[in-house]
Amino acid sequence: MIPLLKPLKEQIWLLVAGAIVFVSGMSIGIWLFAVNLFNNNYALATAIVIIANLTIALIIGKAISAKAVKPTDYLARSILTVTNQENTVEPPNPENLDKPSKEFIASLMQKVYGFQNSINQIKTEDQSDLSYYQSITNLYPLPIIAINTEQHIGFMNDSALSYLELKAEDIADKPLYDVFNIAFTSTETLEKWLSNIAGNTVNATETWQRVKLTLPNNKIKKFDLVAHYSQNNSNGLEVVLAIYDRTLLYERDDRDLTFVALAVHELRTPVTILRGYIELFGEELESKLDTEQKSFMHNMSASAQQLTSFVSNILNVARIEENALNLNLKEENWNEVLGQVCKDMELRAKVHGKKLIVKIEPDLPTVAADRVSVYEVIANLIENAIKYTHTDEEIIIDSHLKDGVVETTVSDKGVGIPSNVVGHVFDKFYRSHSSKNSVGGTGLGLFLSKAIVEAHGGQIWVKSKEKEGSTFGFTVQPYVNLAEELKNSQNGEIVRGAHGWIKNHSLYRG
Ligand code: ADP
Repeated sequence: MIPLLKPLKEQIWLLVAGAIVFVSGMSIGIWLFAVNLFNNNYALATAIVIIANLTIALIIGKAISAKAVKPTDYLARSILTVTNQENTVEPPNPENLDKPSKEFIASLMQKVYGFQNSINQIKTEDQSDLSYYQSITNLYPLPIIAINTEQHIGFMNDSALSYLELKAEDIADKPLYDVFNIAFTSTETLEKWLSNIAGNTVNATETWQRVKLTLPNNKIKKFDLVAHYSQNNSNGLEVVLAIYDRTLLYERDDRDLTFVALAVHELRTPVTILRGYIELFGEELESKLDTEQKSFMHNMSASAQQLTSFVSNILNVARIEENALNLNLKEENWNEVLGQVCKDMELRAKVHGKKLIVKIEPDLPTVAADRVSVYEVIANLIENAIKYTHTDEEIIIDSHLKDGVVETTVSDKGVGIPSNVVGHVFDKFYRSHSSKNSVGGTGLGLFLSKAIVEAHGGQIWVKSKEKEGSTFGFTVQPYVNLAEELKNSQNGEIVRGAHGWIKNHSLYRG
């Protein structure tokens, strides 16, 4: 038993002991009196004592239990009055308590108040912690935003307010996405990350590059974003976001891209003419050339083809930037589409001493595809497999039906991709450090391929192991899956836009 209850126990023990002594004394007195009164009739005297004892026990028992239950009654009334559960109960009255009960209640209350004070102290400490952090972060030139579990803004430091061109009163406890109109280069958005980690992890950090912010006045800023999540932060602010502005750097890249796109556009016609002549001469001169001359011809043709894909990649990425890349999905025979690209790429593989093995499952359903764009996706994947395989290992292209969609994979036994960078290969301009200097490229091929595949309603993925090789795969929808959409279209084709920017929040999607 806890020491707090000791005085109460002693009080009840004394009452019960006193009652027993009192009743015993009374019994003897009554018995002697009755024996005397009824001329030594012992039986009658005993019966009178029993009846008297029973009556006294009832009265005393009731009085003792009423006294014993008083502190409990007081506590029950206190709880019910405070929690407002029982309106019929009168509030507790300390006057009804005797001394030991008053002492018991007083020391119990002291403990409750002590507990309450420590809670309040923690709360105020948290509050002051918060303003302490806030004032510290105000010294930083880095925009910092803290958000709570409901994804409402807890605080923004002064740099964040000025970066987002907001006033403190505009943000108080607002949902983050009301004031933060951001878009990402892939579907791995902040919102998706938050919904994945919430409740599943204790601490997590993530970084996004090239995040695009659109301010209410339509001004665009570009930055890298770092988010740190820490579950059960005492101040309720689970996520802290830091913004690293890169507007000037990324704008310069984009301006360069626009300039390059303009220049490259001019290359289109001469390259097409060049390819036409190379093909023509190849056919015409086939029988007249010796082996070495034939291999020169092949090299020329493969290089012209590489130039063509470079030109179309640059132009398409520039179109994506302006939201101007539209795809016309039509019913296509996948064997034919894939077969054509593989045939065209075979020469390029041969020039590099590699062999393409093509395995296409027979009887694949027709697919909904934009032939020109999907050609570029397959060509990009095969081109990469050739570029990043430095041995004469085969490159395997495999197409089959999987889970109701047509999946195509391109596997190589080349240099592979380190696991720490594999998540970035679809990012715009991303080029792995290890191969950047030895292998030519723009870092746009996979970014473009992803945008095209997603506009087809498909998915693109990669599995890779450094020094062992990579498998890139993507899916396209069977034509029948889009039958409903096609029924409503005017000329039997569906027009889809390939977007480079994925809005962070469904609120902005459209
Ligand atoms: P690039 O023009 O650099 O090839 P991509 O967007 O096509 O640009 O690819 C991005 C990066 O992904 C490449 O720089 C390379 O590091 C990596 N990569 C792509 N395909 C492969 C592959 N088959 N094997 C190894 N690394 C690859």
